[in-house]
This record gives sequence, structure tokens and C-alpha cells, in this order.
Amino acid sequence: MSGLFDLSGKGAIVTGSTRGIGRAIAEALIEAGARVVISSEDAADTERVAAELGMPGIACDVTDNAALERLVAEGEATLGGLDILVCNAGITGRAGPFAEIDMDDYAQVMAINLTAQVLLCNHALPRMAARRGGAAILISSLSGLRGNGRINAYALSKAGVAQLARNLAVEWGPQAIRVNAISPGFIATELSQPLLDNAEFMARRMAMTPLRRPGTPAEVAGAAVFLASPAGAFVNGHNLVIDGGTLITDGS
Ligand code: NAP
Repeated sequence: MSGLFDLSGKGAIVTGSTRGIGRAIAEALIEAGARVVISSEDAADTERVAAELGMPGIACDVTDNAALERLVAEGEATLGGLDILVCNAGITGRAGPFAEIDMDDYAQVMAINLTAQVLLCNHALPRMAARRGGAAILISSLSGLRGNGRINAYALSKAGVAQLARNLAVEWGPQAIRVNAISPGFIATELSQPLLDNAEFMARRMAMTPLRRPGTPAEVAGAAVFLASPAGAFVNGHNLVIDGGTLITDGS
């Protein structure tokens, strides 16, 4: 492992790391030398994946603030110090226009995708500051950067996540904490499976993506290693888009 991307001796917590993008990020951080606390709301999944990866597991429903506080405190104690926080757990909620929004669904999407990231950072960043260094990575989405007729609360929550990264970067930068967002485009996971199964949608959606294919979780994970590692040491408050070129798609 090149020193630029070396995370030996670092401790990390990754929420939603039992599958998909979160698991790929956990695996990449481990490969770079970090120890990673595996976590999702499902205790059995958390235990299974933690055992598969040879890492500690702490189950946590991110809508429960007391559980978030425990995750950070116990995670830090287990790791012997917290250097990296990846706020990844997220749900899509119900698709449709805002005019027809279900406010219970809206509240749940905001609680999991946005409020939990605020609370997690508030629990974790002071602990990192006490160690004079750290990196937080907030998983946003391409949907927070474009208009959309169907993705409602999800896109709104993800736009908020990118702004949270900018605000926290300003707040914590003086204490050597970097906070960045990652905005994946269309990545093949359980979350995107209903769309992957929709041939008409996929034909339209892939025509917008210069690489003409969905991304893989591993293709997002490398960016997390970059942002957590010495290679990313001067990157702060950024929103790194990983979308096969969808955002800059041919406007001609
Ligand atoms: P996924 O395969 O559905 O995995 C989601 C993970 O989040 C699971 O581990 C799940 O664990 C966990 N989670 C969900 N609700 C939770 C809660 N209340 N408390 C704790 N953990 C919870 O999703 P993914 O596609 O990997 O997405 C990961 C992140 O990337 C999300 O923030 C998503 O919005 C974002 N993203 C994804 C795409 C994409 O195309 N896939 C694109 C842009 C952004 P449980 O099974 O225990 O609930």
C-alpha cells in the first residue's frame, strides 16, 4: 500500500456497512489498513458481516439518537480511537412528485438520510478533535445536484447532506477535521434494484451516462479511501461526484 493511501492504525465507523456501498467502503478501508466498526440496524446482519470481515460490529438504528451516541462511544473504545466516520446509511423513500408527498415517508427519509448524519457528526467530531485530526465522509447523491420529477424527499435530504459537509468543514477545519461528501450516481445495489429491473427506465437513464452503465459499490469505495487518507489531506468541504459522467452529460 502506497503511503499516500495508507490507513494503517486508523479506526473507522461506517454506518449501513452490511451491504452495498457501505460494505464496499468498509472493505476498502480495511484493505488500506484501517480497523472498521461494522454497523446497520439489523443486529444479525451486523454480527454476520462483522464476523466475515474479522472486524467488530455494533448494531445501531440511525434514527435513535441514544443508539448513535452509543455507537460512537463504544466504537471509539473498541477501536482505541476514532479517526474516520462514514455516514452511509440511507433509504430512498417513496417516489413521486412533491404535490403528492406522504409526510410520514418524508419524515422517515429525512431522519435516516440527513438528521442522523448531523447527530453522528456531533457525537464523533469532538472526539476526533480531541485527537487533533480526523476525516468524516458523508454519503450524498447525484440526485441532490439535479432537478427531478420523481425523487422527492430523498433528493432534498441528499442536497442537505452536501451542505452539511460544507458547513462542518468550515466549523471543524481549524481543529484538523476534514468533512467531505461523496455523491454517487446510479450504483447497482439492493437500493437501486427496482430501477435496475425496469428496462425502459434503464435505457433512458444509461443514455444520460457517458459510460453507459451503472457503477459498482467498489467504484465508490476508492473515493472514500482517498478522502480518508493522506492523499486527500487538503480536500475539505468537497462534494465528490462519482457518476460515470451523468452530471456533465452531453448537452448538445
Ligand atoms: P443499500 O444496499 O440499501 O444499503 C443500505 C444500508 O443502510 C444497509 O446496510 C441498511 O441496513 C442501512 N440502513 C438503512 N436504514 C438504516 C437505519 N435506519 N439504521 C441503520 N442502518 C440503516 O443501499 P446502497 O445503495 O448501498 O446506498 C448506500 C448509501 O449510498 C445511501 O445513503 C444511499 O442513499 C447512497 N446512494 C446510493 C446510490 C445507488 O445508486 N445505490 C446512489 C447515490 C447515493 P439494514 O438492512 O439493517 O436496514
